[in-house]
Amino acid sequence: MSARHLDPTGERHGGMPTWAWGTAPAGLATRDQLRRRGLRPARGQQVVAQLEWASSKARRSGGIRTSNLYRLDEAVPVGPFTPGRARGLAAAMRVRRTCPTCRTEQAYCISTRLGECASCVAGPNPEVDR
Ligand SMILES: [Zn+2]
Repeated sequence: MSARHLDPTGERHGGMPTWAWGTAPAGLATRDQLRRRGLRPARGQQVVAQLEWASSKARRSGGIRTSNLYRLDEAVPVGPFTPGRARGLAAAMRVRRTCPTCRTEQAYCISTRLGECASCVAGPNPEVDR
């Protein structure tokens, strides 16, 4: 580990606090590290620091690689089974299944080509009309 990558005040990195590999404070994590904990950065979550390390594969950038660091306590769980994601998905599906003409939620998605449900396309039906 080289001290040249360590710059917690960001003095030499345009104000971005920079930590050498393995020195980042607990509570900060890269996107990959968040992923391993089942987390991801929240929408609009700010990058608070960066990790910097020497890499022979990164010759074009002077042999240095960096990775954004995020606060763990601001990250959100990944996966389709969070209640928020499930609610969002259900709401989106309800909109796609609801006919804009008769306002009835159908068992299928309304065709974007037809723009309304099958009964509306077929015309008024006295049996359904109340
Ligand atoms: Zn309809």
